[in-house]
Amino acid sequence: MQYSEIMVRHGELSTKGKNRMRFINKLKRNIQDVLSVYPKVKVRSDRDRTHVFLNGTDYKPVVESLKLVFGIQGLSPVYKVEKKVDVLISSVQEIMSGLYREGLSFKISGKRSDHQFELDSRQLNQVLGHAVFEILPDITAQMKNPDVNLKVEIREEAAYISHEDIKGAGGLPVGSSGKGMLMLSGGIDSPVAGYLALKRGVAIEVVHFASPPYTSPGALKKAQDLTRKLTRFGGNIQFIEVPFTEIQEEIKNKAPEAYLMTLTRRFMMRITDRIRAERSGLVIINGESLGQVASQTLESMQAINAVTSTPVIRPVVTMDKLEIIDIAQAIDTFDISIQPFEDCCTIFAPDRPKTNPKLSNVEKYEERFDIEALVIRAVEAVNISEISPEIEKDTVSELITDLL
Ligand code: ATP
Ligand code: MG
Repeated sequence: MQYSEIMVRHGELSTKGKNRMRFINKLKRNIQDVLSVYPKVKVRSDRDRTHVFLNGTDYKPVVESLKLVFGIQGLSPVYKVEKKVDVLISSVQEIMSGLYREGLSFKISGKRSDHQFELDSRQLNQVLGHAVFEILPDITAQMKNPDVNLKVEIREEAAYISHEDIKGAGGLPVGSSGKGMLMLSGGIDSPVAGYLALKRGVAIEVVHFASPPYTSPGALKKAQDLTRKLTRFGGNIQFIEVPFTEIQEEIKNKAPEAYLMTLTRRFMMRITDRIRAERSGLVIINGESLGQVASQTLESMQAINAVTSTPVIRPVVTMDKLEIIDIAQAIDTFDISIQPFEDCCTIFAPDRPKTNPKLSNVEKYEERFDIEALVIRAVEAVNISEISPEIEKDTVSELITDLL
């Protein structure tokens, strides 16, 4: 027998009153994005559940993908069968023989949502339990914590049988808490920051500053690959590449070396904020973490942040590097982040940046620039592309093993 659908139970959103349908629709669209690599899969949502119809697609990689999507509490692969007693009996027998091993315990949890059906839930348990004993006489029935709890639900349109309860990622559906701009370098921290924002339902658009020819196509691809990893948690992400060469060259020529970093970061912040406003984002998200490098002292944060009153969310600000690395490894971004392509900041980084930049000095040096014109030119020249999930390599190899 083949699973026909995966039943998805909604997470925290079940408590969210009148916004409920809006949340569910977000989740549905996110699931559609994430599963877009499986062309036969169809998704439908109602108030209580989301149904993922497999239409012949292997359920295993689909389950693996769904396990990462925020807003899902749990999921169960389900067999859909005809609502006839003899069909139910033979299906239950087939499923249980497939699962059987010595010492296995089980129970049947029948449920009759269609009250016209000839057996009520108690009778369902009896008849189907009996059918299992008929073919597997050594199996044990156990009401409390059995190895297999076979759920059989009779509904209007058909009967549904399931026995696996798989834990979902929890969190909130991406997009249910509005949208923010994630400043993504190619480092370890910003993808983790993005992941943590996604977890609490913040949709992200990625802003990446590139300075060709100082930065290589490899550095750009790295940022895109990191973004693609982030699409697994809630669907497609807009990737906004900002040309930053002109500004970096100008800063290098006009500002004292100790202030390069602060000035660079203030330009990044201004440009990101401008893009945010144009695209109706509510916040900026970055990967700053306290004390790692000179750019990340409180004084420095203050000087950089002074160019905007937009809230800047720093999900990893108080984490230790090792804690951040643990998450990066868990979400599979670490290996990409450590690829040796230098980003624009590494290349222009001064040997000894100011750890306590004075705002009055910063502003004095900035008088040397036509800030508005530089910002506008960068914003007007952005290159935007949509990044969607791809079949993961490990899933592909699993598919290949299945074929053999
Ligand atoms: P990361 O590991 O994310 O690169 P980091 O610890 O190296 O962070 P910095 O290099 O000081 O820290 O950068 C601080 C933050 O500034 C980054 O986390 C990121 O949000 C943003 N940032 C830095 N460089 C870029 C870039 N080229 N494009 C977009 N954002 C950037
Ligand atoms: Mg960095």
